[in-house]
Amino acid sequence: MALKNTYLIELLETVKKRNQGEPEFIQAVTEVIETLEPVIDKRPDFVEAGVMERIVEPERQIIFRVPWVDDNGKVQVNRGFRVQFNSAIGPYKGGIRLHPSVYIGIIKFLGFEQVFKNSLTTLPMGGGKGGSDFDPKGKSDGEVMRFCQSFMTELSKHIGADTDVPAGDIGTGAREVGYMFGQYKRLRNEFTGVLTGKGLTYGGSLARKEATGYGLCYFTNEMLKANGKSFEGKTVVVSGSGNVAIYATEKATELGAKVVALSDSNGYIYDPDGIDLACVKQLKEVERKRIKEYVATHPNATYTEGCKGIWTIKCDIALPCATQNEIDGESAEILVKNGCWCVSEGANMPSTPEAINTYLSNGLLYGPAKAANAGGVATSGLEMSQNSERLSWSFEEVDAKLHGIMVSIFKACDDAAREYGMEGNYMAGANIAGFLKVAEAMKAQGCV
Ligand code: NDP
Repeated sequence: MALKNTYLIELLETVKKRNQGEPEFIQAVTEVIETLEPVIDKRPDFVEAGVMERIVEPERQIIFRVPWVDDNGKVQVNRGFRVQFNSAIGPYKGGIRLHPSVYIGIIKFLGFEQVFKNSLTTLPMGGGKGGSDFDPKGKSDGEVMRFCQSFMTELSKHIGADTDVPAGDIGTGAREVGYMFGQYKRLRNEFTGVLTGKGLTYGGSLARKEATGYGLCYFTNEMLKANGKSFEGKTVVVSGSGNVAIYATEKATELGAKVVALSDSNGYIYDPDGIDLACVKQLKEVERKRIKEYVATHPNATYTEGCKGIWTIKCDIALPCATQNEIDGESAEILVKNGCWCVSEGANMPSTPEAINTYLSNGLLYGPAKAANAGGVATSGLEMSQNSERLSWSFEEVDAKLHGIMVSIFKACDDAAREYGMEGNYMAGANIAGFLKVAEAMKAQGCV
């Protein structure tokens, strides 16, 4: 989409100049600004209040050294990040990514997206994100613990239950959250809901583990229903084999679909009989093994090296649940050519701009990440509520609330897209609906 509004064109130029060397952040901002053009044309008051200039600049960016000692007694040093992007509607909220590819541009793009996503949940949460270039893969439990303790020693100075509440993301699961929570408690002598995604024995919420994947399928199901379709009998490809991928596979299967593929960063498996999820959970959640081990016990399944090939598998619905920019223009063309008619995003920004253009120009149903994967943070919000009340809700209660939130997120995207003359463009709808609440709050609070 080419911008016409000169004010927005200049704003985007400033963002590009100010954030050189951060292509993921520029990509995320460009997408949002392009879809907000009709809103800005209608609302000069937001321009007057400087909402746009402020919304693309994080409130605070913290970068710190994370020293820790490995199992050989050698000192290792990683770099830690926390970007507190926007607190207009609540305390900063967003996960911690532990992956060697992490640098400030990745954390900023994730923090920026989180602002709109958290707004869409209707819960009072601002946007933030954190992480480190530490790679938990291949590390012992002791090494992971020492890293997490060192990371939290610095991070604890900047977060708090009413200030900033981190959670999991790539590489940060229940184990890492547990070590970080333990260290925060020790340093502050406070047992508070400072992190979400906690274990069930110390303040975690039932259904948080399942929430992003289940929420993705609840959102997608609403989108399908609104267009006269369903998951029943459909062939689905899910990328990744981590937290989001596993529970998206579980719910899609429950809703009547057959999931035939999963991947990790080395390659993908294809099982024409439908993925045996009990085996995947054992391999990934218990044994922390690679996805290729699956074929050892499933003779009809095949493993192929390289993760991009997963998009050449014929499917009706694609659910990318691994990482950013995993579907490029070429993969999107192949998906369309093979008859795929729906892409709904569990991962953050998994589609390049070229891929999104291909979906939209071919009339695919497209569920954008900000809306489709908001179930994780929504349930984190529910964990915060339970922690404040010092109560735990049942799995069914949390799941029902999650379902209700995802249904209302779809409606908000659908309504906003219609109101601004872009019916069926749920990406534009998500950006507009998420933006409006934050922008109103920023304007009301004055120039801060
Ligand atoms: P996990 O660490 O549990 O799993 C990530 C999966 O994606 C793994 O299978 C991993 O493979 C694969 N992967 C990671 N990086 C790459 C890469 N560069 N190329 C190919 N595959 C890769 O993370 P989650 O499931 O929690 O997160 C997946 C996505 O969902 C991320 O984009 C995250 O931001 C997003 N998300 C997560 C939420 C949550 O609640 N957890 C909430 C909302 C969004 P390998 O093991 O080989 O690294």
